[in-house]
Amino acid sequence: MSGRSLKVRRCLPAEGPGEECAVFAIYGHRDAAAHIALGLHALQHRGQEAAGIVTFDGRQFHVHRALGLVGDTFSKRRVIEALPGHAGIGHTRYSTTGASMLRNVQPLFAEFAFGGLAIAHNGNLTNAAWLRRQLVREGSIFQSTTDTEVLIHLIARGSGDSHVERLVGALKAVEGAWSLVALFDDAIVGARDPLGIRPLVLGRLGEAWILASESCALDILGAERVRDVEPGEVVVAGRGRIERFFPFPRRRSRFCIFEYVYFSRPDSIVEGREVYEVRKRIGAELAREAPVAADMVVPVPDSGVPAAIGFAQASGLPFELGIIRNHYVGRTFIEPSDQIRHLGVKLKHNANRGLLAGKRVVLVDDSIVRGTTSTKIVAMVRAAGAKEVHMRIASPPTTHSCFYGVDTPERRQLLAARHTVADMARLIGVDSLAFLSLDGLYRALGLSGRDPRQPGFCDACFSGDYPTRLVDQERGERQEELPLVLEEA
Ligand code: AMP
Repeated sequence: MSGRSLKVRRCLPAEGPGEECAVFAIYGHRDAAAHIALGLHALQHRGQEAAGIVTFDGRQFHVHRALGLVGDTFSKRRVIEALPGHAGIGHTRYSTTGASMLRNVQPLFAEFAFGGLAIAHNGNLTNAAWLRRQLVREGSIFQSTTDTEVLIHLIARGSGDSHVERLVGALKAVEGAWSLVALFDDAIVGARDPLGIRPLVLGRLGEAWILASESCALDILGAERVRDVEPGEVVVAGRGRIERFFPFPRRRSRFCIFEYVYFSRPDSIVEGREVYEVRKRIGAELAREAPVAADMVVPVPDSGVPAAIGFAQASGLPFELGIIRNHYVGRTFIEPSDQIRHLGVKLKHNANRGLLAGKRVVLVDDSIVRGTTSTKIVAMVRAAGAKEVHMRIASPPTTHSCFYGVDTPERRQLLAARHTVADMARLIGVDSLAFLSLDGLYRALGLSGRDPRQPGFCDACFSGDYPTRLVDQERGERQEELPLVLEEA
């Protein structure tokens, strides 16, 4: 460590429920690190705060993790050259305040009595704080505040003849959402929780095997999409072999419906469905459920674009770019403080004045969370001279927090948890406001509606119907606070 400056800072506990992340793994390519970097770059929308890569060269592991965008770190040749090997895994993350220190950046890596192992996790474990408390009581010393580290300690204590058995043993103790990739010995592993809440796809590039959060990470490499890893499946790819196991009790899958609404990239195929097509069908459903007499349909870019196209096609209204987005600022949510978040919205969008003046406008966005974006956008469209502003939201009201890895604020900060649709319309300042119904969302996915006894997706953010126990919530557990951390400056 000599020669590097370290800064000491007080670290606050994570304020939100979890992280949005992406994972990527490759086995059997001599340029593993460069491929992982490209894959992570394609998955950058799932997390912009930090990125990391771990590779294995047949003899030893190599690790590089850093705060910032994938391209900030992994476009440098010397960084990639310092990550030799034919196998590796990578991760990008978004986290909430306080957890942004370097030691929380994944993949996590540990040397066990039986060898080294790296893990990268997308999702959120709903009993991690409780498990952590037990583990600490029994002598474990944690290095980070991420829920994922619980897995490392469970693996260290677990039994089993192979790495995979130990990993599976640890996964049997955790609850919640986990799509993860691991690297050990001479193999990569992919695993999805029994409900398959977060996505994971298997791909092939020549002789190499790939695991990635979304298929857009395969496209960037020209790799073939083989299939989705199934809920509850563990897949192991190593020298000349690929094996799959189903070590967990089989359950009806509950894939995150919000991946289709907002989170996944529109050019990805997740859980067998093209995200772009689903979003267009969502827009068409919305036009049928909540039609409006207007002159044009305007998306809130970029998240509202596919649904607005679907709305325009179904309603016969022209689709227009009434709001222009500056692509050189990050997502509204990247900066965690309210003050900066407000500023972010102003920095990001501008109204196309000449187009909007004197017009009746239907604005389409994917969701309303706190209401910040909508309020700003509507004021902007009105200031540009629009005669009427009608807001159509391509999802049901977000009334509940996510505990499975999509970063949402606490329930009391969700606009729809505290207000009726009529109140929200007044607060946002629109002439009319309508959300897609939950049944309409299921119809857009090709189903006849939501089966209330057995929904085929996790729609807890819209329904409050959480598909797993929320152990930490029930017990009032909070993530452990690390009082002081040393961080490389
Ligand atoms: P808000 O301004 O708080 O109402 O947030 C709504 C906006 O944020 C919408 O334009 C969405 O596209 C976007 N959004 C919704 N959920 C998330 C999320 N979990 N992370 C980042 N952005 C989000």
